[in-house]
Amino acid sequence: MKGIITEIERFSLRDGPGIRTTVFLKGCNMACKWCHNPETLQIRPQLMVYPEKCLGCGACVSACPSGARGIENGALCYDRALCTGCGACAESCFTGALVISGREMTVKEVMDEILQDRAYYENSGGGVTLSGGELTTQLEFARALLEAIKAEGISTALETNMHAPWHIYESLLPLVDLVMFDIKIFSAAAHKKWTGVGNDRILKNAKKVAESGKDFLVRTPVIPGVNDTEEEIGNIAEFVGGLGGAQYYELLLFNPLGESKYQALEANNSFKGSRPSSADFAEKLRQAAEKRSGLPVRVG
Ligand code: SF4
Ligand code: SF4
Repeated sequence: MKGIITEIERFSLRDGPGIRTTVFLKGCNMACKWCHNPETLQIRPQLMVYPEKCLGCGACVSACPSGARGIENGALCYDRALCTGCGACAESCFTGALVISGREMTVKEVMDEILQDRAYYENSGGGVTLSGGELTTQLEFARALLEAIKAEGISTALETNMHAPWHIYESLLPLVDLVMFDIKIFSAAAHKKWTGVGNDRILKNAKKVAESGKDFLVRTPVIPGVNDTEEEIGNIAEFVGGLGGAQYYELLLFNPLGESKYQALEANNSFKGSRPSSADFAEKLRQAAEKRSGLPVRVG
């Protein structure tokens, strides 16, 4: 069985306890306008183009079997509509100007990378996190991978948007030690406006995870002009506190690093130029969240 992976990040300290390997699966069932990993939204491989690295050698033009890369009036051109994401051009480009996002990998190939760091997981209380995108868009691959990781006795965590039917999460829970999920916006209408979907299912699933007794962690990305008010963060925090069983709640400041990825994908970036909240304002939000949730609140 093969999955489509955008990245396998080793030695991650952000995606759960201890030292971890995080496997990013491509494909998502939401479309958050501020997504800082826009290359994970579509499930198919995509070409990312960095023209500033191009030397103009033309090797990619000869390599492309689809006529998507060409030369017009002496200048390189690229027609994304003709591109199949085959990756032939990226293989021929030695400057890094062309990069394919999305690699087909078998469970065994992913496991070979994961197992290289087994000693680090054991010594640090870490493990492996499946992230995305949304991992449930490649459900059978995710399940097979979790089974393989568990069979090696390695701890597992999910980073999920919680927007899949509950029975899917329920079926994965026996294979998982920690569930990390976002509650991004509390207002249903605003959630639909900014992510493309309502939040009713997400909130219901959150309650069910809490009731299951599985360890979980809730996080909220703080997005300028979307949810960065004491009232909105407070409303989410109150809901998280009411779930029962959370050890803490985490606010994640806006990450502007996705900007270059939007350019490389020639995709519209609604948050171009946006920057994270100031430290003072983040502290105000943290205090509001602490007051409303009754939980310790971290800012990351
Ligand atoms: S192969 Fe790379 S460096 Fe050469 S023309 Fe194509 S994009 Fe530019
Ligand atoms: S990914 Fe394949 S189809 Fe797309 S431009 Fe490169 S060689 Fe052509």
